[in-house]
This record gives sequence, C-alpha cells and structure tokens, in this order.
Amino acid sequence: MKIIVLGAGINGITCTLKIKEKYPNYDVTLIGAQFSPKTTGDGSGGLWYPYLCGTTPEYLIRKWGLETYELLLKLWREGGYGISLQPIYVMYRKEPKPAPEWTKKVFGYTEFDRRQLDYFNNLFCVNYVAGNTFNTFVVNPSTLINRFEQQLDDLKVKRVQGSVKSLRNPFLSNYDVVVNCTGLGAREIVPDDRVIPIRGQILKVDAPWVFHTIQDINTGHYIIPNDTFCVMGGTGQTNNFSTAVDDKDTDFIVKGCYTMIPTLKSAKTLSYFVGLRPGRDEIRIEAEKINGKTYIHNYGHGGSGFTLFWGCGNTVLQLLEKYTMINKTSKL
Ligand SMILES: Cc1cc2nc3c(=O)[nH]c(=O)nc-3n(C[C@H](O)[C@H](O)[C@H](O)COP(=O)(O)OP(=O)(O)OC[C@H]3O[C@@H](n4cnc5c(N)ncnc54)[C@H](O)[C@@H]3O)c2cc1C
Repeated sequence: MKIIVLGAGINGITCTLKIKEKYPNYDVTLIGAQFSPKTTGDGSGGLWYPYLCGTTPEYLIRKWGLETYELLLKLWREGGYGISLQPIYVMYRKEPKPAPEWTKKVFGYTEFDRRQLDYFNNLFCVNYVAGNTFNTFVVNPSTLINRFEQQLDDLKVKRVQGSVKSLRNPFLSNYDVVVNCTGLGAREIVPDDRVIPIRGQILKVDAPWVFHTIQDINTGHYIIPNDTFCVMGGTGQTNNFSTAVDDKDTDFIVKGCYTMIPTLKSAKTLSYFVGLRPGRDEIRIEAEKINGKTYIHNYGHGGSGFTLFWGCGNTVLQLLEKYTMINKTSKL
C-alpha cells in the first residue's frame, strides 16, 4: 500500500505517525510545503481548549478533544514532550451558553460562584458575570512536533519538502491513498472555499512567574504560559490574509493582558507571531473515492489543532481501514 500524507503540521505529522506505527509495511511518504518550525501550529498557543471550530457537532469535539486530552495526559506523565498541566480560568462578560458535554470529563471543571467572581472582578477591575476553571494541558508546540518528527525518522518515513498544487496532480497517481492535512492550503488544492483564514497575532514573553492560563472569552484576550515562554494573545480576524505584525493589534493585546496580569508589564518580549488559522464552518474529516483512489481529508481545525489532533488522527486511521478494505473486496 502506497500512502502520501500532504501537510507537515500537527495533523499531517500525527496521521503519518499513526498509519506507520500500525502498518509498518506500508510505504508512507509525508510531503509539506513547510515543516516545523514554520507551520501554523509552531506559532500557536498550544492550549487544549476547543476554540474557533465553527459549528462542528459537539459530539465530535467531545470525542476528538477527549481522545487528545487523554494522549496529552499520557505524554505529560512520560515527560520530555514539552507539555504542562495547569489550571485555566475562562471568564465571561456576558452570560455564556450552557457548558458543553466535554466539561464533565476534564479534571476539576468548576463554575465560579458569586464570591469567586467578586475576587476576579476586584483583581482585574472588570465585571465578569460568569467564569469557570479546570485543569488543562499546554503544549510547547515545536517540542511536541519535533518529538513526533523524530519518531517518524525512527520509523524511516520519507519526509519531503514540496508543494502540491492540486489533488489531481499526476504525481499523486503513484499512490493508493492521499491523506490531505493541508490546513488553509486545502482552500486551493481541493479546492474548498469553505476554508478561510482566521488571522491570529500573539506575543511571546519571558514570564516564568505565570503558572496558569487565563482567557477572556468576550474580548479575545488570553495568557498561556508553557514550559519555556508565555503567550499573550490575541486576535481572531476572519478572512484576513495578512501575516504582517500589526501595531494596533499589539496594543490591543498588551492592554488587555496587562489588565489580567499586571506584572506582565515587566516581562521581556521575545518575539511576535502572526498565523492564519485554517478556519472552516465545520472541520472536515471525510473519505472519498475518485477514479479508484482514496482521498482522506483532515483539515479546517480553526483554533483547535492542538486540542483535537490525536482524536482526528484516530478517525483518519479508521477511515483508511474502512476504505482500503473496500478496495480489497472490490478487487480494484
Ligand atoms: C496565533 C494562533 C494561536 C493558536 N493557538 C492555539 C491553541 O492555543 N490551541 C490550539 O489547539 N490551536 C491553536 N491554534 C490553531 C492551530 O495552530 C491550528 O489549528 C493548527 O496549526 C492546524 O494544524 P494543521 O496541521 O491542520 O495545519 P498547519 O499547521 O497549518 O499545517 C498545514 C501543513 O500543510 C502544508 N501545506 C499547505 N498547503 C500545501 C500544499 N499545497 N502542498 C503541500 N503542503 C501544503 C503546510 O506547509 C503545513 O505543513 C492557534 C493558531 C494561531 C494562528
């Protein structure tokens, strides 16, 4: 079986790893226009929290999210993957929707009562009307991606840097299965105009005294510390293709984050990052057969690539097994 995985971000790397680990005899190639540290995920916050994934059904977010949460727990216990376990505070200035089902499964999910809200409101000089906390994982994205890449090298997977213009590219005819994990690139190569950029700008600062994540859902500000630096964010601008740092966005980010943790004013800025989240009204994980070739799509993860990658990879593996079985029985 010859399989090519398109896209070397967290989703492409994960799918390649899962396929090759389960089927070591398959000939698996990974091709990506960009590899770490230049993928969108490398610059992300690395936080486990379902965010900006359109109207993807809640049962799928729960399934993919919790499978990923379990994996992160396992890797956190093993150590060496750049994963931290920490509390998150999620704050609302307007009444939130009812809590999603996944909140029943994460560690210590608790909604704040009046006294706890008063505490935060006095601390931040704001007027939060609701909030919750639980324990979540924050990944240092490049560390995790690089560990997975190392595992691919150990399994002797071919990794090729290159760009594919279309899924009908004749070069792909050499493969039985094409796994499409091209993120925003799916807009062009499928083509799928339901895929749109959601522009995110962040700052990385040196603030080793911050040990928890905090997110203001209504303004979009967040502070996410990982094992080496602290992310201050952010923006979520739909259909904005600009990858240039915007000073107005920087002002917006620092003002909002300083309100939440004033001591960040003394944190040294390490770098700025702008990335285009691969937004879609619904994450697409789907297989199709065209002219006898199997295509498995896995893209459109919006702001949740590091929240869902492992669960999505499980579904891709199941689709691969289902569709290649059909292949065998139909003797194509
Ligand atoms: C500022 C910011 C903060 C974020 N914070 C978080 C967070 O805290 N938690 C979270 O879960 N998510 C977060 N995200 C979202 C997360 O980064 C994405 O969901 C994730 O990167 C999607 O992974 P992917 O592998 O699908 O796509 P990508 O990481 O974009 O990788 C796509 C791959 O496909 C390749 N490719 C594209 N087109 C082609 C082509 N034509 N031919 C060959 N290769 C191609 C690319 O080069 C790349 O290798 C954030 C994003 C941003 C921008």
